[in-house]
Amino acid sequence: MPLPPVDTEYLLDFLSGLLNTPSPTGLAEPAIAFTEHAFGEYPELNLKRTRKGALVAEWRGVNSEARRALTAHADTLGAMVKEIKPNGRLKMTKIGGYAWNTVEGEGCMVLASAGSPVRGSILLEMASGHVYGTKVNEAKREDDNMEVRLDARTSSLDETQALGIRVGDYIVFDPRVEITNGFVRSRHLDDKACVACLVAAVKGLHDASLKPAQTTYFHISNYEEVGHGAAAGIPAEVTELVSVDMAAVGEGQTSDEFHATLCVKDSGGPYHHGLSQKMRQLAEDYNIPYKVDIYPYYGSDGEAFWRAGGDVAVALIGPGVDASHNYERTHLEALLATTKWVLAYLMS
Ligand SMILES: [Zn+2]
Repeated sequence: MPLPPVDTEYLLDFLSGLLNTPSPTGLAEPAIAFTEHAFGEYPELNLKRTRKGALVAEWRGVNSEARRALTAHADTLGAMVKEIKPNGRLKMTKIGGYAWNTVEGEGCMVLASAGSPVRGSILLEMASGHVYGTKVNEAKREDDNMEVRLDARTSSLDETQALGIRVGDYIVFDPRVEITNGFVRSRHLDDKACVACLVAAVKGLHDASLKPAQTTYFHISNYEEVGHGAAAGIPAEVTELVSVDMAAVGEGQTSDEFHATLCVKDSGGPYHHGLSQKMRQLAEDYNIPYKVDIYPYYGSDGEAFWRAGGDVAVALIGPGVDASHNYERTHLEALLATTKWVLAYLMS
């Protein structure tokens, strides 16, 4: 049976809406709610939130003897106020793993817990070339010398506190979403691109009046970037888990922005060979543009579930994302390949 068509416009609309919904790990609820709202359009899905805050959508399949799950994460990198400095600016602590230079100069929003959100930008303390000369280039970017400059009149701790900003408040980076010639450029395509692929796959199957071959759970994780997202929330009776997360693009990698990738090994070791081979065969059968790759510095929610004791086969697929955990970019072709792969899996 051929795969049902994918609604490209719907996929991109959902994706840009999700990308523009701030959701750093720990405060990912708005993105969970955004996805819940989209899933809510499909009455065949049974929605629930876990106590940890993840979203689980159950879709009763033709059969139920070998239940499956797919997971993608809605949480993203971000930061938190570590200290309010005597000059009113903010020291930060990172949420998730990234380098400070990847957000240097970026616009941000401080979600003041005792006031309204405050705009600002992320800068090196010694930012001005006219004042600090070569130090601007030479300084190693560290927690201690990066700061938030607030777009508000403050030059003291008291004035910043009066804005409602407290230690522990979340700082979200501007995603700067731009879609040009099929390229999608934005922060946090990891892993909102894959949440969009899952939602678009559900719509494709729904629009074709089909249902999954096996009862399937769509798990939208909210703690992946810190390593334990899918440690909870995957029903115990599931036999297979496909983690849908971005593929790492760069020197030495087979992955690119125009293919989906099957990752067979990452920092957590090899994935399940049998399920990986099955995914590879599906890609072959349906002419899905795909690569097979190994990611050197990478872990997934599939492994989080394994580490938590999950007794399932785990595989990992996802679209190639250039400059991951930086100002990322992918292409519609990779998103479509991933969505089709998910559809092929659901129907298999
Ligand atoms: Zn990810």
